[in-house]
Amino acid sequence: MASTCTRPPVQKDPNQVLDIEEAAANVGWHEREVPIRAALLRWYLNHRRKLPWRGDPSPWTRSKARPSKQGKHQIQRTLPGVFGKLNSACRPAVIDLDEEDTQKEEQCFHRSAYGVWISEVMLQQTQVEVVIDYWTTWMRSFPSVPALAAASADEVNAVWAGLGFYGRARRLHEGAKYLLEKHDGELPQTLEALRGIPGVGPYTAGAIASIALGLRAPVVDGNVERVFSRLQGGLGAPAKSAKLQKVCWELAEELVDPEDPGAFNQALMELGALICTPSSPSCQQCPVRPMCRAHQRMVAGEVASVTIFPGKALKKPRRERVLALAAVSCGEEWVLVRRPARGLLANQLQFPCLELAEADLASGASQLQALLASFGLEVDLEPRAGALEHLFSHERHVMHVFQGHLEKKPASQEERELIWLTASDAERAGITSGLQKVFDALGPSPKKRKRRSC
Ligand code: SF4
Repeated sequence: MASTCTRPPVQKDPNQVLDIEEAAANVGWHEREVPIRAALLRWYLNHRRKLPWRGDPSPWTRSKARPSKQGKHQIQRTLPGVFGKLNSACRPAVIDLDEEDTQKEEQCFHRSAYGVWISEVMLQQTQVEVVIDYWTTWMRSFPSVPALAAASADEVNAVWAGLGFYGRARRLHEGAKYLLEKHDGELPQTLEALRGIPGVGPYTAGAIASIALGLRAPVVDGNVERVFSRLQGGLGAPAKSAKLQKVCWELAEELVDPEDPGAFNQALMELGALICTPSSPSCQQCPVRPMCRAHQRMVAGEVASVTIFPGKALKKPRRERVLALAAVSCGEEWVLVRRPARGLLANQLQFPCLELAEADLASGASQLQALLASFGLEVDLEPRAGALEHLFSHERHVMHVFQGHLEKKPASQEERELIWLTASDAERAGITSGLQKVFDALGPSPKKRKRRSC
């Protein structure tokens, strides 16, 4: 059973931490480098998860229950009709997970720098269990850099939909086009050249370089930062702070194994994901426990728990936005528009909307009607009871929905701006979880009604 590594309260200040530079300089890091490397690599050899981007054949390790296919991580088959409506050529290559589930034969993807790149970008925002399905679908849809570069933005969006942080999909797409133009569609072989790909930062470049190319390059993500903070036992600076990041990158550069940097970096990240977790670390199963200063300090009664490292991240308060949304239907279809090409949720589908001050909500219907009139739609809107909340890491959206219905679409509407889709076609095309939330509030989609009646 996992140990939570907590002890009864001690007399000393439980939040006592050392100065970050002092800790990095004085705790004998160099003497521990070799045993830490050896212990980590041995543990990784025996305990690593089997994952498709590592070149492992299926079945892959899914340590948690598979995410619901009805939730935001649903991956859909693309439909020619949907992409046709979105003014894009269709690539009907995205497979339905139900089909995949029924295929019992072994599946295997070759490990490649391209596959590692895609996996690392996806893993920056969600857990391995979810990424496995997205990654395999992505690799079947866009099996190479040229295939990704040739895809349309709608196709890329449809495969990414549900993962969030849509700017990352757009940057992958831009990166593929850059590679096609500058590197003949291949990923370059040096750390510096990898850093030159649009959207590729130090972490992703280090991961591709070490895991796929075998270069001695460090990586520091949130897991590595936490493991280093605890191994050092004194890195109490706030998580994600520039100060802690700087020290961690320096430590990672020193520690990365010269013989097998890819396995070492994956071992470090895997240790943080599986053993040295944020709130319930399993110190009793940890391969580097004998070298861990945080554990030693806890056993000595100097700190109450290893979980005080790193310090709590300093969070900025979320900015609040009040939005008025026009949900206008005609038959089974809803009118949608595209968000701007840059910024939050760039290019994603949404209901026509306005940002308002709370005090102006009373006139929300008339303001939205004026907006719709500019698209050639004359429709009466009624406010729907209750607001919907949608949270981003840095923003809180409070969405007030105003509903309207048209008997038939007007001939004069601005076709270039309006997109008419049924809720289920919109889901297949790939929609944000915020838009999904509004569809759910408006009522079950035809597909869900069918499912419920079964
Ligand atoms: S690195 Fe230290 S704190 Fe983390 S699980 Fe291992 S022994 Fe515990």
